[in-house]
Amino acid sequence: PEPQVVPDPSKKTLVILGTGWGSVSLLKRLDTENYNVVVISPRNYFLFTPLLPSCTTGTIEHRSIMEPIRTILRQKKASVRFYEAEASSIDPDRKVVRIFDNSEIRGDITETEVPYDMLVIGVGAENATFGIPGVRDHSCFLKEIGDAQRIRKRIMDCVETAAFKDQSPEEINRLLHMVVVGGGPTGVEFAGELQDFFEEDIKKLVPEISDRFRVTLIEALPNVLPMFSKQLIDYTESTFKEEKIDIHTKTMVKKVTDKTVEAEVTRPDGKKETIVFPYGLLVWATGNAVRPVIKDLIARIPAQANSRRGLAVNEYLVVQGTRDIWAVGDCAVAGYAPTAQVAGQEGTFLARLFNNMAKTEALEGKISELSSSLNLQPGNSAAVSREIEGYERQLRRIKDAKPFHYSHQGSLAYIGSDKAVADVTWFNGNVAAAGSLTYLFWRSAYISMCFSTRNRLLVINDWFKSKVFGRDLSRE
Ligand code: FAD
Ligand code: NAD
Repeated sequence: PEPQVVPDPSKKTLVILGTGWGSVSLLKRLDTENYNVVVISPRNYFLFTPLLPSCTTGTIEHRSIMEPIRTILRQKKASVRFYEAEASSIDPDRKVVRIFDNSEIRGDITETEVPYDMLVIGVGAENATFGIPGVRDHSCFLKEIGDAQRIRKRIMDCVETAAFKDQSPEEINRLLHMVVVGGGPTGVEFAGELQDFFEEDIKKLVPEISDRFRVTLIEALPNVLPMFSKQLIDYTESTFKEEKIDIHTKTMVKKVTDKTVEAEVTRPDGKKETIVFPYGLLVWATGNAVRPVIKDLIARIPAQANSRRGLAVNEYLVVQGTRDIWAVGDCAVAGYAPTAQVAGQEGTFLARLFNNMAKTEALEGKISELSSSLNLQPGNSAAVSREIEGYERQLRRIKDAKPFHYSHQGSLAYIGSDKAVADVTWFNGNVAAAGSLTYLFWRSAYISMCFSTRNRLLVINDWFKSKVFGRDLSRE
């Protein structure tokens, strides 16, 4: 059928905010012909975040892990509108979302409102800085494609500047000191990728600085990767030692300047001491904070008065204290970790829920139609009654919808030198594994999870290319 272009007044308008893990898994499985679907996001592509750390060093090229949202939408049965815009506020009373175009090219209209009957919020989270001075001005985050590109450029800038004629030894040491703050999986995976880049490529191509390159990982808690089992934490820490990555645990960063990081370290006797780390590149990976649009919505809903980490949702992912608003992924608090795995399953759950809601309405329509025909043509009553019963049975099955249940498949992280750690669920039991075989598992798991065949082929090609020819050291 021809894709419908004008919103159909007989259908409800379903507005979806975001094009990340939560929203795109919903879109993938949603029967779009049941609703007027509108997608709004400042990013016109889906990003496969698990491979983002590999883009910082050029192991993988950034476009290999992006999938244009227009390509995804073209595959849907009914046409879906997409607006490249940021939602700045949501008014749950008037049922409208205020949006604005924050891109470089702007038309006469840059701000407007979009009405909704049903709204799904999947805007993710922003980077936590805890208000620590200097972080926003001097460090790189690692959340979006632009962040990975900035880091890649900066690594090479530090290397070339360190190799500049007559640079002093202290300045070379500073420029080649790469500091990562946050020992969660983002910080650990990035540190591993960085050390690989140095060992496999930079060292060979810029040998004059090879003994100065250092990677330091700073973590406030007593160990890195708190969500992994003890043996995998120990394995990661000892692998980092072999890779010559310096881990500073129980060390909390308090201040950042353009060339130094100041941190407070707790010594074994409990005494606190301040250490200053001069750096060339600083990557800040201390987890998630709530986006302004979500904070604004929380302030409008009395039932969300105690929400601090995101929108509290019920077991059907409905935002508590609202009607017709659902939230998925990192902006929702449903009692699970903010991961792609959770966001993906929540999106899939909502797709099923909305598909069933549409079926329910269709069945209820048929039942009421048949019931009135029963009154008009009593002669046919036995056959019609049987038909009604059949529809009612289907309706009961659909209405018996189970609440959202998260099924944890396990945690995986790359730790450098072709090694990975994995805590996976296998036949209802937990298996902890680490090393090179786990790395092969990591690779195949991520390849199979890639969004499309095109992404899969591009990622395999990038891996092959960087192994055979080395990573590209051009600074652009
Ligand atoms: P996101 O995927 O972040 O998407 C949010 C979307 O909302 C984006 O499209 C954004 O542009 C859009 N948006 C933002 N603001 C607005 C607004 N105001 N209005 C409209 N749209 C807006 N998890 C795992 O399970 N496994 C991993 O291996 C893994 N690796 C990771 C590696 C890195 C480097 C990072 C940063 C995260 C990783 N995660 C991983 C976590 C995972 O990426 C997140 O939990 C997941 O992306 C959350 O999905 P989401 O849909 O809530 O948000
Ligand atoms: P995180 O919240 O998991 O870790 C941040 C770390 O920073 C914490 O350990 C915290 O103690 C530390 N920290 C905070 N403030 C600090 C300070 N001032 N000084 C020093 N350390 C400080 O964040 P993340 O690694 O970005 O991960 C975010 C989410 O994404 C998590 O849910 C994670 O599981 C998920 N993720 C998963 C993977 C994977 O599965 N491979 C990879 C990346 C991210």
